Amino acid sequence: MMRKWIILAVLLLVVLAGGIPLYLQRNFKEEVVAGPGVTDVFKLSRYFSGIEGTIADTDVFELKGSEEGGKMLIIAGTHENEPSAALTAFYLIENLKVDRGTVYIIPHFNRSGSLGTQPGGGFPLYFSMETPWGEKTFRMGDRGFQALDQWPDPDVYIHYPEGQAMSYIDARNTNRAWPGRPDGYYAEQVTYATMEMIKKEKIDIVIDLHEAEAMYPVTNCIVVPEKSMSYATGASFYVKGREKFENHVERSPTAFRGLSHREIGDWSDAYPFLLESPGVHLDQITAAKTPELIMDGIDPFVLKAAEKGLLFIPYDENGFSMDRRVGQHSSVIQEIVVQWSKKNPERGLTISAPKYKEIVENGLGYFFKDPSKANKDDVYYQ
Ligand SMILES: [Zn+2]
Repeated sequence: MMRKWIILAVLLLVVLAGGIPLYLQRNFKEEVVAGPGVTDVFKLSRYFSGIEGTIADTDVFELKGSEEGGKMLIIAGTHENEPSAALTAFYLIENLKVDRGTVYIIPHFNRSGSLGTQPGGGFPLYFSMETPWGEKTFRMGDRGFQALDQWPDPDVYIHYPEGQAMSYIDARNTNRAWPGRPDGYYAEQVTYATMEMIKKEKIDIVIDLHEAEAMYPVTNCIVVPEKSMSYATGASFYVKGREKFENHVERSPTAFRGLSHREIGDWSDAYPFLLESPGVHLDQITAAKTPELIMDGIDPFVLKAAEKGLLFIPYDENGFSMDRRVGQHSSVIQEIVVQWSKKNPERGLTISAPKYKEIVENGLGYFFKDPSKANKDDVYYQ
């Protein structure tokens, strides 16, 4: 009898030891201090009430300039294991100045994915950044909706409305779920709500922020359909020339469905742009997936691969830091807006925030405000 109790107690300890950290991570709140540019914060369910109160609903930050102009939506956290996206969103919420037009920012598009790390991938639950006032901590997320929130998976995921058959795992991937539908999976409901927003608000530009492996050719780039091509080419050309970092343009395939850069362009009047920066923590060959690797992108095995010419990015012993990845995103977004506004003066935007060089010189942490010193109405918990 005693032995049974001991076995039960040990089992309970194992369950608690494994479960409590995951529970705490799921309830850990990231803090963002709304900068002077933020004019409103509301829920995405404003455009589709079907997601209200569910895990698919998420915060939208509005930054409206004093002058009327065009509209841009920035989506971060489509894949929550690509953290420079959400950090760019937080950075812009705190620092972006909008003089003309309106910018909407969604920091955690796939909120479910942001609440848990990648199971089995050996990723940490958190990573931290130095700031002038102390350490700022973020959750490390997963690529898709978590099984905890969207389950069971189908045997085959059938894309709506094209009917293309995809891997079962893509039923939880918000970048295979565009343009979405109101009665589909959560991943389809969140994209549906966003399509409703794009149409109702008459959004001109949609930016979808990502990171990709160093051994994958689609990185350091802007992925666009035909209609966005001239703007992306101009933006890529200017950031390479003026700001001296690698960037190129990739064409959105027409036969591969569900991607933001394909479906948003096909199903609305908006011009989509998917931005990739290099996150070497995503490469399979790295050493331990530590919080430091996520932040500095320094890895001995990726360096070996670089020496053998296997990478698609410039890489040396300095790695590829979060500062560089967020800096690149900031510069490319601003250059796309410049290119867009030149050709569409009546729907132009005037925005500004420190770019690549300034972010790399100061470190990203320099640009985040201390939530404990901020007006408490300006602090948002994500
Ligand atoms: Zn991605």
